[in-house]
Amino acid sequence: MQTTLDVMDESGVFLTLQSDYGSKRRKYEWTFAIQQCGGDPGEIALRFAGCCMKCGACFASGYSWVDRFQKNPRVIKVRKPGDVIPDFIRIPYPVGYQSYNWLRILGGEPLLNERYIKFLFDTIIKISKIDSAKFNNGVIIQTNGIFVGQGNVELLKKKLEELYNSNPKVKVCIEVSIKGTNVEEFSLITRSANRPDWELLMFKRLFGWDLGAFSPEDLFKFNIRAYYELKNIANDLPNFCPTVIAGFGVNESYLLKRGESKEKITIVFDDGNPIYHPNHWSNDFKELYNDFTKEAVKTFGSLFNKMPMYGIKDLFKYAWVHRALKQGKRIYGEKWYDAKYADERGGRNTRLEKAFLDILDKFFLVDNKTYYSSLIGWK
Ligand code: SF4
Repeated sequence: MQTTLDVMDESGVFLTLQSDYGSKRRKYEWTFAIQQCGGDPGEIALRFAGCCMKCGACFASGYSWVDRFQKNPRVIKVRKPGDVIPDFIRIPYPVGYQSYNWLRILGGEPLLNERYIKFLFDTIIKISKIDSAKFNNGVIIQTNGIFVGQGNVELLKKKLEELYNSNPKVKVCIEVSIKGTNVEEFSLITRSANRPDWELLMFKRLFGWDLGAFSPEDLFKFNIRAYYELKNIANDLPNFCPTVIAGFGVNESYLLKRGESKEKITIVFDDGNPIYHPNHWSNDFKELYNDFTKEAVKTFGSLFNKMPMYGIKDLFKYAWVHRALKQGKRIYGEKWYDAKYADERGGRNTRLEKAFLDILDKFFLVDNKTYYSSLIGWK
């Protein structure tokens, strides 16, 4: 497998090596790997590297931020889908189960340009021919939607058709992570304003499109529009369904425990309300919320009469989450509210707790098993 990174060479894609869930050898050596997600027997995951955004609380910052990822020893450059197929084949069937939970494609950003899209779908087509039952015939692709939101969906559509023709059993769900409810939130979460020229130049050289040509307003529109672009192509494709999720909202423990948890992490605005608070919603977001929930409740079931929200807190037991939280605190400073630091700010914040409940009224979050099973079980 090719492992040399070369910024001037635009062929191939960047992937992040993973270790297998439960493996005694904690070594990062696989492209396809078994990950702990959704309960036993886990999921099969393929993880890309590189991203057009630079979210302050990104768990994957070490292999997604453009100024970091090439220095990460877990990142490799892979030229052809054939390079990763042996890693899929070597995954054994789980003992006592008929399949893994699903195949999840995550990042970095897996739909970063046409090269990534082609690589990804050629790979999915190949492994679907080999054994789609191993991943339960379900594929979930997680994206920020910035590239497809620009209208870059033709290749995606062609590849989904190709997949359907080669294995009609395989269902694909693309989940667009919405980064805030207005331009200010989007810009704050993704840190997409005033990026240095060298970073934008490096991005262009690596990924072939001019991120610097777009303002935060443009990028927020792409983030929202991605759902509609994907919805349009889904009309002609029986094997494909898009969805959205609010990224970096309030923390999961709080939502799951329905207000009992004292642990809260979020970005708080000067008006005292956290990101995603209904007071902040732009017209574009309101429209997306209404269009999405109306459709999604029919497609994915009753939970989806609200928008799903991805938080961070329930993962506190993992060391890498602490790094992401520290990073968030460093980047967002006083805007970053973490109940662990509440004492520094005078203790319990009941006003904020009420604001969380307002958000809870509009968004939902459930355990991974329930959530991802809905995404591959669409009707
Ligand atoms: S869009 Fe996703 S992968 Fe990219 S920086 Fe943000 S959280 Fe990380």
